Amino acid sequence: MIQTETAVTTQTTGLLAEADKSILFTTKRPSIVMERGEGMFMWDTEGKRYLDFIAGWAVNALGHSPAVLREALAEQSGTLVHASPAYYNKPMIQFAELLTHISGMDKAFFASSGSEANESAIKLARKHGAKKMNGAYEIITVKNGFHGRTLAMMSATGKPEWETLFAPKVDGFKHVPINDLDACFAAVNNNTCAIMLELIQGEGGVNVVDEAYLYGLRKICDMYGMPLIIDEIQTGLGRTGKLFAFEHYGIKPDILTLGKAIGGGFPLSAMLTTDKYDIFEQGNQGGTYTGAPLSMAAGYAVVKEIARSNLSRNAELQGQYLKVKLSGLSLDLPISNIRGKGLLLAFDVPEGLGPKLAAACQDAGLLINAPKPSAIRLMPPLIVAQEHSDLMIDILRREMSSLLA
Ligand code: PLP
Repeated sequence: MIQTETAVTTQTTGLLAEADKSILFTTKRPSIVMERGEGMFMWDTEGKRYLDFIAGWAVNALGHSPAVLREALAEQSGTLVHASPAYYNKPMIQFAELLTHISGMDKAFFASSGSEANESAIKLARKHGAKKMNGAYEIITVKNGFHGRTLAMMSATGKPEWETLFAPKVDGFKHVPINDLDACFAAVNNNTCAIMLELIQGEGGVNVVDEAYLYGLRKICDMYGMPLIIDEIQTGLGRTGKLFAFEHYGIKPDILTLGKAIGGGFPLSAMLTTDKYDIFEQGNQGGTYTGAPLSMAAGYAVVKEIARSNLSRNAELQGQYLKVKLSGLSLDLPISNIRGKGLLLAFDVPEGLGPKLAAACQDAGLLINAPKPSAIRLMPPLIVAQEHSDLMIDILRREMSSLLA
């Protein structure tokens, strides 16, 4: 049946009214309802198309509803959906083998969200502190970083706005400024059991860690015999132009956390570590959904496809192309400080313009993100092609020019 425009509009209005009535408020959402996705695009219930340069917050690495993910889910759901965390299952073993192989780590633990993977990393570091470092428990993290929204991860995150939120905080985190090795060194004491950071702070506005700084952090951890935890939940699996951002630096973490892209949209995360830190005892860590066959099959299919199609190389090339195009825009428009690696990019705009520009672009059918009032972040699916970047730049130019006119 052909729907009239009025019928569709009525449907959307009804959905929005129902959402208002029944969904707990946590964030302001625009008056649109997303319905369908394919490749680089999503469509709302009005049939309007959006070019997606947010990718569900760096999640849809293979684009929307990729065939490999759909097929893996269909096949596994017809075989075994959930087996209980008490048992091994085939996809779990297969996926752990793939992830340890491509990352150079030895052991994998699986969870459903990035926050949980990071919680596992903190537990593992504290376990090591308890066993090998006379009970050391404190973890040094970096200001303006982001590690998730559980109570412990909010404490780890060190966002100034979260300082007093949901007090009392989880104890045992010290925050130091990014790229300040002296400050980190000064923060280490007898209680310190790990250093944890992102290599590009995504939520913090795309701030890149310096090579010398990371090398220094690696040295501090080696000197004290404590783990370096790298949170690659946003940067991992091809996004920065390498499979893992740590490969840009020539160092290795002791504990690595992955999320977002790992499931291509299916809720999944992982904590990887080395044999040295295979030290959890029975019952220390777990979860109902850890290593569940359906999520493992999804993750295996997605990660295998990212590696098979060499999407990190595409991220590198398309990222370079986007940087050139953005530099071109900056000749006519107030765009500055173009930064980031691969397809995790940001640039500054005049203070306060970020959210207005993101909203105007959304109205014009382009999804971009303003992590700060003065910044725009781009993190498209890793399958993005030049034609999509050209379209994005056209919309951006038009909307920014008209906002500034
Ligand atoms: N760590 C980083 C670097 C992130 O960017 C995020 C989410 O944005 C998280 C952790 C938390 O992941 P999740 O929202 O899946 O719990």
